[in-house]
Amino acid sequence: MVGVMQSPAEDLIGRAARDLLGAKYAIALTGAGISTESGIPDFRGPSGVWTRDPGAESRAYRSYDRFIADPKKWWEERLSAPSVLGDLSSVAPNEGHFALVELEELGLLQSVLTQNVDGLHEIAGTKHLIEYHGSFLKLRCVGCGARFARDDYDLEKLKEEGKLPPACSRCGGMIKTDGVMFGEPIPEDVARLSVAEARRCDLMLVCGTSAVVYPFADLPRIARSRGKSVTIVEINAEPTPLTNEGISDYLVQGKTGIILPRIVAEVKRLKT
Ligand code: NAD
Repeated sequence: MVGVMQSPAEDLIGRAARDLLGAKYAIALTGAGISTESGIPDFRGPSGVWTRDPGAESRAYRSYDRFIADPKKWWEERLSAPSVLGDLSSVAPNEGHFALVELEELGLLQSVLTQNVDGLHEIAGTKHLIEYHGSFLKLRCVGCGARFARDDYDLEKLKEEGKLPPACSRCGGMIKTDGVMFGEPIPEDVARLSVAEARRCDLMLVCGTSAVVYPFADLPRIARSRGKSVTIVEINAEPTPLTNEGISDYLVQGKTGIILPRIVAEVKRLKT
């Protein structure tokens, strides 16, 4: 009898499904890669914003300083120039986002920690979501940390009336977008919760991130510092420092929009 040959990715999809079924507290970390199949460019992938325009990277590194120096001017520019990520209001989640929702609904995934600001995990329906770098759907007070829906403030009207930056309706502090800029501290609440999740999990799925942006990239390292009681699985188009430094146990190489739904299908097959 001739056996059916399985590709390495196939083997690893099965391994990831078995690891998920055996885990007590699995979490997922995601980065820009999970949203490229929704049409949002990443930064460092082959067609990334910074790969195509290296000058955009150094401009991004100065944005928080520019906000602090002149918040009114920063807001005026923000409202008149398109985002480097394109029009985020017209994008939709893809199969990768929905696969994580399905894993959560199956009781196999306890939380999703994302670096993405595109809001797509929330739109897809992930319930336990930590948006480490904030969300473009929200605004945040620099003073008290309160978050608001973007629509809670009529930003165009405030611009016309010369009343930018918006003032916090709770404490009167200065409002910025919720997205965390380079050089800006990670909001204390998400930083604390994320470290707690990395310390608690016994399985971490790291999806579509180059794992070079800190402090987010510390989270797999915090998990690995607990030794082999944690399994770290990468799902990425290419190897990353986590792969090369042996932080992850294995890499399932490919697109998250293809690999994650196949892991979900395998989980369901094994459960029946
Ligand atoms: P990154 O651009 O540094 O790395 C993306 C990684 O994902 C690369 O390794 C790339 O090869 C891989 N990748 C691309 N498409 C993939 C796919 N379909 N399937 C699997 N892997 C894929 O992104 P990062 O690590 O998230 O760091 C960038 C920072 O910029 C983050 O902090 C994030 O906040 C921000 N950012 C956010 C968005 C967004 O919200 N969608 C987009 C770009 C950048």
